[in-house]
Amino acid sequence: LYESTLSDLKDKIKSYPDFPKEGIVFRDIFSVLRDPACLRNILDLMVAKIELLKWTDVDVVVGLESRGFILAPLLAVKLNAGFVPVRKKGRLPGVCKEIAYTLEYRSDVLEIQQDSVHQGQRVLIIDDLIATGGSLGATCKLLSGLNANVVGCLVLLELEQLHGSKNVEAPVESLITF
Ligand code: AMP
Repeated sequence: LYESTLSDLKDKIKSYPDFPKEGIVFRDIFSVLRDPACLRNILDLMVAKIELLKWTDVDVVVGLESRGFILAPLLAVKLNAGFVPVRKKGRLPGVCKEIAYTLEYRSDVLEIQQDSVHQGQRVLIIDDLIATGGSLGATCKLLSGLNANVVGCLVLLELEQLHGSKNVEAPVESLITF
């Protein structure tokens, strides 16, 4: 059941060649989120994976801007955890910690509110997709800087040939690989 639901989901994820620029095959999770059964299955399968990995005991679920903001709070409710955003620089009020990281052609800065995660808290990081692992790697470093305990990162989709998890200090798991 688990495997057939996963392969059904994979088949339903629409791919857009050359978006947002030439050479990128964009995997659009909104093509499955709009379907009530798919949305339910994604959530159930992510929770099942978290249980299998024994990652259920977390205080905080961190979501990455912007598609991590969709999945992370849904999972946080299931895990009785809080939700904390990691955003692009300049969007969060108050004292923030920032980290610069390099993408393929440019550099970017991510921020977290300093008081959003406390020392020793157990954290699960969620995003829609891992490509190079730059965003998840930087997010792990932000959380280490707050002395949080990152249990792991879970994404819906993984672009396997990029080996992005090598750039992330915490374990990375995915539901579907392309
Ligand atoms: P990275 O930091 O390289 O792992 O990139 C991950 C972020 O970029 C994720 O938040 C994704 O939403 C987005 N992303 C990168 N590549 C793709 C792709 N092929 N299709 C959809 N989103 C992508």
